[in-house]
Amino acid sequence: MSEILVVGSLAYDSIQTPSGRADRALGGSANYFALAAALFAKVRVVGVVGEDYEQRDYDLLKNRGVDVSGLTKVPGKTFHWEGSYAGDMNEAKTLKTELNVFEHFNPELPENFKNSSFVFLANISPDLQLKVLEQVKSPKFVGLDTMNLWINIKKDDLLKVVSKVNMVLINEGEAKLLTGASNAISAAPLITELGPEVVIIKRGEYGFAMYSKKEGFFILPAMPIPQVVDPTGAGDSFAGGVFGFLASRTGEITISHIKQACLMGTMLASHTIQDFSVKALAQVTLAEVEKRLGEYKKIILH
Ligand code: AMP
Repeated sequence: MSEILVVGSLAYDSIQTPSGRADRALGGSANYFALAAALFAKVRVVGVVGEDYEQRDYDLLKNRGVDVSGLTKVPGKTFHWEGSYAGDMNEAKTLKTELNVFEHFNPELPENFKNSSFVFLANISPDLQLKVLEQVKSPKFVGLDTMNLWINIKKDDLLKVVSKVNMVLINEGEAKLLTGASNAISAAPLITELGPEVVIIKRGEYGFAMYSKKEGFFILPAMPIPQVVDPTGAGDSFAGGVFGFLASRTGEITISHIKQACLMGTMLASHTIQDFSVKALAQVTLAEVEKRLGEYKKIILH
């Protein structure tokens, strides 16, 4: 089994959805990704937290076997994101982003993290993503996620790091913003022209559109979930499912593996949205994920 290195945000989120509100609840792209991926593979997290970061939130990752020795605690406050969903549950409205301790973070990988074969650059400033990637000796497969904030304020850095990865995961609105295309289908090939062989465009309840230079499109709906409590972290959990699945395989990564990995990503995202914050994701077991995968396969294939 291979190890996955992830860099991304560790956050306290304040979230409003039609189902209610959560204040300063655990979040962050790296937390969602790691909790999902660790069901399948060894995960190592790199990031920074503030003095307010609770021991129980480290323990949540540790209990799933995640290596947290790349997390640094520094004076100041943990990253804080405030968002709301109204009407369109597929797109969060960002009300506030407080980078806090991430503003001056200079990631230095522990020596034993540098041989990681899978690297996931979860949503965080692209210059930090690049600094982490440059320290990994010879990664086998690298993925990246991003968001509109970085497309708007750090596009040059973002394009530099995009050119160095194998896979981009991005949501539909951000794919259009990045490329200027008017829909996901025209955006996908434009993203692969920036470097990566594969792009996965996430479309909320409509699922995903995966596109590879080699084999073109693979498109599926999401798992139908009647009550979406909180969509936050769905994208990161999807990515965790994809990378976890790929890292649990041996040998070369084929498009067929990536397609199966997308099904697993779909399952992880569907669990995350059933409760606020990381609550549902942190409790789900591999057996439950596999059971739901069986139900999903019936929905998409008869
Ligand atoms: P998603 O999977 O896209 O719903 O990711 C949600 C998580 O992303 C939340 O838990 C936030 O803490 C985190 N987040 C929001 N904005 C940013 C940002 N600009 N950089 C890094 N992480 C962010």
